[in-house]
Amino acid sequence: MPDEGATPDLAGDGGDSRQPKLDKVDKIVAVVSGKGGVGKSTVATNLAVALSRSGCRVGLADVDIYGPSLAVMLGINGLPQADEDTRLIKPLEAHGLEVMSMGFFLDDEAPVVWRGPMVMSATKQFLRGVAWGELDYLIVDLPPGTGDIPLTLAQEVPVDGAVVVTTPQDVALADVTRSAAMLRRLNMPILGVVDNMAGYVCPSCGTRDDVFGDYRGADLAAGLGTPLLVEIPIVQRVREGGDAGTPIVAAAPDDPASKPYLELAAKVQEAFADGRGGVLGPEPTDVSCDEAAGIVRIAWSDGSNTQYTFSGLRGWCPCAECQGHSGQFGFVRVDDPKLDSVEGVGRYALRLTWADGHSIGMYSYSWLREIADFEECKTGNGGA
Ligand code: ADP
Repeated sequence: MPDEGATPDLAGDGGDSRQPKLDKVDKIVAVVSGKGGVGKSTVATNLAVALSRSGCRVGLADVDIYGPSLAVMLGINGLPQADEDTRLIKPLEAHGLEVMSMGFFLDDEAPVVWRGPMVMSATKQFLRGVAWGELDYLIVDLPPGTGDIPLTLAQEVPVDGAVVVTTPQDVALADVTRSAAMLRRLNMPILGVVDNMAGYVCPSCGTRDDVFGDYRGADLAAGLGTPLLVEIPIVQRVREGGDAGTPIVAAAPDDPASKPYLELAAKVQEAFADGRGGVLGPEPTDVSCDEAAGIVRIAWSDGSNTQYTFSGLRGWCPCAECQGHSGQFGFVRVDDPKLDSVEGVGRYALRLTWADGHSIGMYSYSWLREIADFEECKTGNGGA
């Protein structure tokens, strides 16, 4: 029987099928990007240092197998050791952070082709086998891209909120669509977008030049249905700080180039401070199911209401079984689907269980908002 008036579990983690939390870590924030070289690791390190400067206890984990760069960016040499009693690996320390990086263990010569499978199987142990201290935040630098390896790695990490790093060149529709599909598939609560390398600041006169014309990062964020957290210009000192092993926020916190990272840290804290688990967008306040009409209705915290036919909802199920692995989403027609139950998953998604037993699709709030406008959800027949 469908749950008449079923309300998602908005208060807790009931039904959350992600990986269990790490014991001593309060919040895990993933830093992700659609492709390499956009400044993801630079954002991750400076965000970590900025959070630490604000009094938080912060760890930084680098699972970017394609370009583990945190050791260089933080000026760390040496190999972490295992604790003799617990057998857990002790993180290294730099700039007040606890740091663990795949790069500490990977042979630079090892080809990426076998790094992938090897590291995928090691990721869970990598994060859970580390003797993290009591941490307010663990920042995880995930591999870039939308392929199977980044997706699988990301699923091993119980992320509380994701920061998406992009650059103005990324704004091409195809990239945005791919990133959106990746984030949906990951079912990660998205804190927002960082628009990196947005404009160039002249090192001698400090004038900002918008080399990418009137591109607006806000458009990209809106396309992803998330807030734009901060815009970071290209500044030579940021790159120099990374190359020298001293992130700009550690080297020169009062430098204007540090300001966006400090602002980002404040926004991340803000997102969690209001108790909404890092979900900045609207969330359901009431979910009801009208079995006779075959319709699910959702009332949202911003006062809006959406409704969906059963067949629309079933057909836009975001799970990998329904959608495959291409990153392209399509409608999957199922005859006369019946909904059994609706259940809240953490504070970011609803899990729908169908009468045919299908229950692995987790509909993130942003996905539910998006598909509400799709014809199949409005009329049930996709206009056919
Ligand atoms: P990713 O992790 O996405 O591969 P990195 O963080 O390694 O990217 O950055 C790529 C290069 O760009 C590095 O040399 C880094 O110092 C530089 N970089 C990143 N962000 C900025 C910025 N805002 N201004 C100047 N250089 C930057």
